[in-house]
Amino acid sequence: MKAAVYKGKQKFSVEDLPLRELEKDEVLIKIRYSAICGTDIHAFQYDLISVGHVPGHEYSGTVEQVGSSVKLLKVGDRVTGGGGTPPPGFGSPARNLNQFNFKEDGVYTDIKKTRGLAEYTISKEWEPLKISDKISHLQSAMLEPCSTAVRAVRLSNIKIGDNVLVIGAGHIGMLCIQAAKAAGASKIVVSEPSLRRREVAKSLGADVVIDSSDPDISQTIISSTDNIGPDVVFECAAALPTLDLAFDVVRKKGNIMLVALSWEAVPLVPIKWVTKEPVMALTYAGEPRDWQISASLMAEGKIDCSTILEDTEFIKLENIQEAFDNALKPGGFQAIVEFE
Ligand SMILES: [Zn+2]
Repeated sequence: MKAAVYKGKQKFSVEDLPLRELEKDEVLIKIRYSAICGTDIHAFQYDLISVGHVPGHEYSGTVEQVGSSVKLLKVGDRVTGGGGTPPPGFGSPARNLNQFNFKEDGVYTDIKKTRGLAEYTISKEWEPLKISDKISHLQSAMLEPCSTAVRAVRLSNIKIGDNVLVIGAGHIGMLCIQAAKAAGASKIVVSEPSLRRREVAKSLGADVVIDSSDPDISQTIISSTDNIGPDVVFECAAALPTLDLAFDVVRKKGNIMLVALSWEAVPLVPIKWVTKEPVMALTYAGEPRDWQISASLMAEGKIDCSTILEDTEFIKLENIQEAFDNALKPGGFQAIVEFE
């Protein structure tokens, strides 16, 4: 089977790998769609992927073969690449380690597996989440970023009727808009530099969209949130000025959820906003409950990825190097690998 193997120093090679035998508690998944995540792009940019690893954690597919003791899944089940409930005592590796540093230790350190950027992948039977027929394979590949947005909203202290600001309307920002709406947000304000993305944000339920190049952006945001500022800010941009902006505009004792994270130092002037006593929280990926909620919201049509996917480029696995190279260019975008 063909797989995109990382060779180090920002190089992939598409190779023919042998398919090993399944262990008794494993399933073989034939991949249908595999999206390149922002995390993959950062890991590529900073050369943090282990040599020999085949990344890809945002994928959908069909169970093609099951091990002798498998009970949770059967051949033909449609699945997404994560979100299953682990056995007791088995948590996210990053959360189990003492003082794990994402940037320095890297999410891929010492991980050498064949994941979603391949024709097939092998999982423990509990790892994938079974998907209902109401969710297409393509939408199912978006469940991982969706679970990240749903988790961010669930950890954000949002209350019914809150005014929300989403900074940055990339994929995660657009998912946060919909998840915040599903959680009962009253008014959703979005700040975003791209006109096209502002239009998409509107179609997804944003009440006010603001060009982030507005020289008076702080005041524009505060004016559009009852002159007191948003109750909750989702920082989904990780651009140089955006975290400081979040603190600048959040209401007194309001909440800031850091969803997108800068990999470089960002300037902050804390004395400006100390009197407001704002609260900032961070979030990392999704846990099984977040995946399950995401799948329900998708099945009910409360989270819809079709608009988000309109501008996505679908590529063949052979073009993986080009896709990663392009993603690093200014204005670069994330692609989705489509398999037969
Ligand atoms: Zn991801």
